[in-house]
Parts: sequence; structure tokens; C-alpha cells
Amino acid sequence: MSKRILVTGVSGFIAKHVALQLLQKGYDVCGTLRALNKADQIKKSLSDAGGDISRLSFAAADLTKDDGWEEAARGCVGVMHVASPFPVAQPSNRNALIPAARGGVLRVLKAADKSARIVITSSMVAMMYRPNRPETFTVEEADWTDTSWKSLSAYIVSKTEAEKAAWQTAVDGGYKHRITTVNPGLVFGPALDDDIGASLDVIRLLMTGAYPAVPPVSYPVVDVRDVAQIHVNALENPETSGRRLIAASETLSLSDIAEILRQAFPDRAGKIPSRVLPAWLVRLLAVVDRNIATVLADLGSVPQADSDYVRALTGVNFRPARDAVIDAARSLERIKSI
Ligand code: NAP
Repeated sequence: MSKRILVTGVSGFIAKHVALQLLQKGYDVCGTLRALNKADQIKKSLSDAGGDISRLSFAAADLTKDDGWEEAARGCVGVMHVASPFPVAQPSNRNALIPAARGGVLRVLKAADKSARIVITSSMVAMMYRPNRPETFTVEEADWTDTSWKSLSAYIVSKTEAEKAAWQTAVDGGYKHRITTVNPGLVFGPALDDDIGASLDVIRLLMTGAYPAVPPVSYPVVDVRDVAQIHVNALENPETSGRRLIAASETLSLSDIAEILRQAFPDRAGKIPSRVLPAWLVRLLAVVDRNIATVLADLGSVPQADSDYVRALTGVNFRPARDAVIDAARSLERIKSI
């Protein structure tokens, strides 16, 4: 019997890896796109990476609209809801992304089959922000971001509101036991094509010398292949039901990442920044550069991920963060994004 899984936003960096691992495990995949003209490129990327695309189909659906979701979800025994806006430059209105992120997850939950397993890609950003955090702290499964904190970007607010709404809806509807969220840190690892997403753009900016120095920020890092494997495990493993799976282990500062890149790509070392900007200067620059505004809430803090329970539940052994950084950069060279 065919086991059809819905993957929302299959054009995305992470969703393509999720779809690839599902195809490699013999599932049928229906990927949603808001623009179906991306379908041929996605077929090529997944086929080149070793996916059997004869079991891949597409459906049109936009997170901000009702149309298309019911048809897309029909007959799907599982749902991987990965799509959510992740812009490189943050909108100045901190509520701007909520309609797509929160509205989108609610549309997907409504459309999903009443017995389907549902895995939602949330983020560690939905867990790790509150005013007056200590400089170094550990992020745990029960933690929630305090969205009243004014420094938060629109992306952080949208991911937190979307995940909260998903759990509340599942509790109210009596189906919390069919839901798992995956909460990745900063995702690196190889891109499958030149639609690279916001996190690999960080590597692209460092490799191309777009900024002469880096802000003093640190993030728990994870490889996209581990993130995809955790999604597939969550779909298949009932022990993950009702859980929030933190996907990340080691924490790297942007300065650590730049140093890893300088060592691994000596030909480019001259371009890769080696200086760290003081926090006050980052705050000043953020007024005119919306890319820089993205990191304001992270200045000077060093979050660590408590993910031992995820290793134990899913059996996923996180790849070293250094390898995730280098493999991301190598893939950017391969697909000529840098
Ligand atoms: P990405 O490559 O930008 O993928 C985002 C996907 O969402 C794209 O397929 C995009 O479609 C889709 N999307 C955005 N707005 C939409 C809308 N209104 N209607 C339908 N689809 C829409 O980013 P990603 O890194 O793969 O992120 C995937 C998920 O992982 C997101 O939920 C993100 O929050 C989460 N996440 C990412 C990271 C990370 O470091 N990358 C970390 C934690 C969590 P288009 O191709 O049409 O734009």
C-alpha cells in the first residue's frame, strides 16, 4: 500500500532534504509549492541527489490562503509541515510574518487527515528568547520564547506564535498524541540546489566577504541531513508524539564559523572576516541594515542546546558542527552560489 506523505514548502532548503530521505525510504511524497513553476528544478535536484522522483508529485498551496490545502493533504498518512517564511532581511513590523506562519500551520492542521501523523518544523528560536537571559544558558524542551520582548525579530515572533497555536489547536482538538515538533538550531550542511535559504546565506555572506567583521553572536548548529532524519524518525516513531525535538548539539559563534571557513578554504581566507564588531556598533548599524537587525536579540549571548533526549529518542547522532559548516560552503562552491 502506498504511504503518501505531504511535505509543505518542498522548494525550501530543509524540505528538499526531508523529501529526499522520504523518497529514499520508499514513501510517496506530495510537495506543496506556492509557485508550481519550481517543480522541474526540484525534480532535478532530488533526482540528482538519488531520490526516485517517480514517487514525487506537487500541489499548489500558499500558507496565507485556504485554497489547495485539502486537495494536497487528501490521502496523506503523514504530514511534514516545513514551510514558513524565513526572510534574510527582517521586516520592520514584528507581526508581519504571523499570518503566513501561524495562519499556515492552522490551515495545514485543518486539512490533514484525522489519523495522520503530523511533524511540524518549528525552531529553537521559539524556545530561547527572554529578557535578561544570562550570557550562557541551556535551552530545554519546555522553554518558550517570551514574545513580549521588544528586541525580537519578526521571524522569531512568527515561529513562536505558530508553534504555540499548533500545540493549542492539537490539545483543543484532542490530537496532541499525533503531533511532534522539530526545533532546529541554525541549519547548515549541503544545499541541494541554488535555492539555498536564509541560513546558508550566512555562509555565503562570510565566504564572499560581504561584511568586514562579524557581530558577537552564537548559535547551536545542526546539519540539514540530521534535521531531515529527525523529521523522518518523528513521523515513524510513536515515542516522539507530543514532544518538541531540539535539533542541534554544538554551539558556534559567527567568529568560530568564520575561522572554520578560513582554515578549510585557504584560497578565500583573505575575504572571510576575522574581526568581531562591538555590540554597540551592531545596534547602530541595524538601524540602516535589516540583515543586521536579525541578530539584535542574540548579541553577546551563548545558547547551548539540551538535545541528549533527542539522541536517545531518535537514535540520530549529530554530525560535528564544523563538518556542517564546511559541507555547506562546499555545496555553495559546487552549485556556484559563491
Ligand atoms: P527556506 O529555504 O526559505 O524555505 C522556506 C519554505 O517556506 C520555502 O519553500 C518557501 O516557499 C515556503 N514559504 C514561505 N512563505 C510561504 C507562503 N506564504 N506560502 C507557502 N510557502 C511559503 O528556509 P528553510 O531554512 O528551509 O526553512 C524551512 C523551515 O525550517 C521553516 O519553517 C524555518 O522556520 C525552519 N527552520 C529553519 C532553520 C534554518 O537555520 N534554516 C532553523 C530552524 C528552523 P518559496 O520557495 O515559494 O519561497
